[in-house]
Amino acid sequence: MRHLILVLGDQLNHDSAAFDGIDDDQDSVWMAEVHEEATHVWSHKTRLVLFFSAMRHFRDELRERGRTVHYHALGSNPNADRGKSFSEVLASDLERMQPQRLVAVLPGDFRVKQQFEAFANERDLELEWRTDRHFHSSPEDFAEFADGRKSLQMETFYRQMRRRHNVLMNGDDPVGGAWNLDHDNRESFGRDGPGKITGPHSFRPDEITGEVMDLVRKRFADHPGTLDDFDLPVTHAQARTMLRDFIRRQLPLFGTYEDAMWTDEPFLYHSRLSAALNLKLLDPRDCVELAVQAYKEGDAPLNSVEGFVRQILGWREFIRGIYWHFMPDYIERNHFEHHHDVPGCFWTGETEMACVRQSMQHVLQHAYAHHIHRLMVFGNLSLLLGVHPRKFHDWHMSMYADAIDWVSLPNTLGMSQHGDGGIVGTKPYVSSGNYINKMSNFCSGCRYDYKSATGEDACPFTSLYWDFLARHEKSLDSNHRMGMQLRNLKRKRDKGELNAIRERAGEIRDALLGKKP
Ligand code: FAD
Ligand code: SF4
Repeated sequence: MRHLILVLGDQLNHDSAAFDGIDDDQDSVWMAEVHEEATHVWSHKTRLVLFFSAMRHFRDELRERGRTVHYHALGSNPNADRGKSFSEVLASDLERMQPQRLVAVLPGDFRVKQQFEAFANERDLELEWRTDRHFHSSPEDFAEFADGRKSLQMETFYRQMRRRHNVLMNGDDPVGGAWNLDHDNRESFGRDGPGKITGPHSFRPDEITGEVMDLVRKRFADHPGTLDDFDLPVTHAQARTMLRDFIRRQLPLFGTYEDAMWTDEPFLYHSRLSAALNLKLLDPRDCVELAVQAYKEGDAPLNSVEGFVRQILGWREFIRGIYWHFMPDYIERNHFEHHHDVPGCFWTGETEMACVRQSMQHVLQHAYAHHIHRLMVFGNLSLLLGVHPRKFHDWHMSMYADAIDWVSLPNTLGMSQHGDGGIVGTKPYVSSGNYINKMSNFCSGCRYDYKSATGEDACPFTSLYWDFLARHEKSLDSNHRMGMQLRNLKRKRDKGELNAIRERAGEIRDALLGKKP
């Protein structure tokens, strides 16, 4: 055999560089479901079904195109596995295949890259990494952007990307005259709520998905989450249907209510496209192109279209750039030296905090919650409690269908937990219950009072918020974006309220973490 082309579970695009120059008479494709990848974090059942089902569909599509595919499928009996890790399964296949070279696209996880490199080195086998063309930019482009800059602002990167790819541009100026329309995109639903929202397009599990669901229910029965509502796209055709449906139905209000949350409404006007995008069932260029087309044809307003483009062309690319630029050291960063585990309710959803209970319901049912649940509910609470940023990342990797190391790590450890000391975000995302009350209806149905920081009814977010500011006052003092929050802290201290708040925060922390810090 000439080339053995390795295709990983998040590399399911037919136009991948891995297939450049493929000769079907001499080359074969290798794909493997392996126990280690399914269990190195305690993966949500939905995440497992998504990956395995999408991989099996892609395998069949490749075979229909005349490719030879060697596919290692997991069965319900772990003792029947040919190996537990990529290396073990590949080693057993290599004896039969004897390829001259391994070819693959850069993986989405540094750990996996290292594993394959060690494997090839040990056997003195050539391994060729190819650029991942799915993205609008490469790690090399990002390194060029970062070169000589003291701080890496997403906004600066995003403007560069808009210019480079000529997206929403009027010559050298942004369409509409402003680069950033975020000020239009922070509405809540007010008292009346969002009304009837039909949510993203959903898909009934087909035969392949059904088989995988049976496998996961048997083999990974103790993993978190349920499969009762599995309805994610698992093929390119389904992912494109979902995208077109989003552009037509949700995009017009996507921007305006981007940050809002509401009871029993996991998706609101969000696209739910992240899982399909990250497995490469969907091309981000199609997302950007169709959104811009909707604007040009008058079907969606600029604030929504720019907001959506900013997420795909800006945040998604920026986050990936950060990952490859700062790994492998990045994963070790822990700016505030936090060390706790995530609270138990992050696995079960059993808590009296209505916001956490609601958000967890979305996560357990759908392996999904939109960005404000992730940032201002789970991330906020973790940071206020002092959870280790890497443990928060591990939890996130377990529980979300769209979680892959390159995208989860900078978002969790960096943006949300400020573990990188300010590379991704210029200030820690912390707030009291006030923010959650403003952006949702959760507080009105909660046993706690979002305004109270002391006493039995004190909102955990509110008590822990003041406690966090007091604990880290010194290190936050040099951050000019924290000025107002620290002035408010000083007022609390001057009024003599701080000691009682911190005492209550200690009780809350003990109760949530189940032990003394
Ligand atoms: P929409 O709100 O409809 O946004 C459209 C698309 O923009 C998304 O599908 C996604 O591809 C992209 N996008 C938006 N924000 C980001 C971002 N910050 N980073 C990368 N892409 C972005 N996204 C993941 O895909 N995987 C993760 O593991 C992940 N971890 C996160 C952890 C935290 C703590 C936070 C705050 C955000 C995280 N995000 C992650 C980003 C974002 O929350 C999800 O992409 C989004 O909620 C997915 O839902 P959606 O498809 O409905 O997104
Ligand atoms: Fe969450 Fe506090 Fe509001 Fe309850 S009162 S929903 S705990 S923010």
